[in-house]
Amino acid sequence: MNIGVLGAGQLGRMLALAGYPLGNRFTFLDTTGHPSAGIGEVMVDTDQQHLEDFLEKVDLVTYEFEHLPVSLVRAIEERKPVYPGSEAIRVCQHRAEEKALFDRLTIPTPAYRLVDSAESLAVAVRELGVPVVAKSVTEGYDGKGQAVIKDPAEAADAWRSIGHPRLIVEAFVDFVREVSIIAVRGRDGEVVFYPMAENVHVDGILRYSVAPMPDLDAAVQQTADGYIRALLDELDYVGVLTLELFQTRDGGLLANEMAPRVHNSGHWTQDGALTSQFENHLRAIQGLPLGSTAARAPTCMVNVIGREGEAAKLLAIDDAHLHRYDKGERPGRKLAHVNLMAPTHEALLEKVRACAALLPDAPAPRFSFE
Ligand code: AMP
Repeated sequence: MNIGVLGAGQLGRMLALAGYPLGNRFTFLDTTGHPSAGIGEVMVDTDQQHLEDFLEKVDLVTYEFEHLPVSLVRAIEERKPVYPGSEAIRVCQHRAEEKALFDRLTIPTPAYRLVDSAESLAVAVRELGVPVVAKSVTEGYDGKGQAVIKDPAEAADAWRSIGHPRLIVEAFVDFVREVSIIAVRGRDGEVVFYPMAENVHVDGILRYSVAPMPDLDAAVQQTADGYIRALLDELDYVGVLTLELFQTRDGGLLANEMAPRVHNSGHWTQDGALTSQFENHLRAIQGLPLGSTAARAPTCMVNVIGREGEAAKLLAIDDAHLHRYDKGERPGRKLAHVNLMAPTHEALLEKVRACAALLPDAPAPRFSFE
């Protein structure tokens, strides 16, 4: 089966790496002009001239990037099966749509307002109480297009700095930790859930993910499973879905955002789970049985961002697995990740510290359970 992938970055690369053992071939459609997948057949299509060629080559279509025109995905759906479907893209690329869906399914979220001017932003800040986070409703990722407002007087500056006609303003959550749940739904509606991960972000960018968490109450995992199952069923979703949440002091969960694709907070599954998120996504979209999501051992994914470390030193750490994306160094750019495994979380933390010390730009690792 030749799988068409919209987008050609590292997520597509890792999908292909997981798909070759299944006998899949991959054709990527890149609309940015900067593909980095470095694997399979990559079609660069910056002027929408190559869609026909792409569709002729592929048996079904998936994506590794959700900021695509919905009209394009709908047009592809007329011709080839697309998993997950265009409705998932429509909802997940727009924060207001996402929040409306969370509300409809009674999935708790931070209190929020939608605003369309500096004046209505100031009103929302007063209503919600400071601090708040203002975010553009579309096109934001890795903390871009966002501002934290600590005083209503800052509203006009924040409005100008984000520079987007519509924002969502959220109460700032005093969370204990950020977590994510990744689940996979097959074509027959079967759903499997990965153990939740604790995610450490610095300046809006993911740096570390640990799964399973040493101190997670089984009831909290069940709550998260229930939330993501409701989303999967409502969207009649096929493939991997990620839901990012805040865990509060009372153990409660508030949904932050979701991604209709394999996710950075699931990279730990490549080495730390019986079946990786990439393999399970490919199994799901091809109508194959889903694989076990059980963890092999406590695992930490360490992102390599901006500058690479020395491979020989990183790989000298016992049970360390380096996944490089074949990309050039640039500040803030995700270049690789290292998966570390250990028999206990204590031993794991030692390895994480040793790994971070080998990476030029890595922040000090700090987790809620230390
Ligand atoms: P997002 O792009 O929505 O995932 O936001 C990027 C990061 O900003 C999150 O990972 C959090 O660290 C932080 N953040 C976003 N929304 C909130 C919020 N309502 N309260 C506290 N922190 C937030």
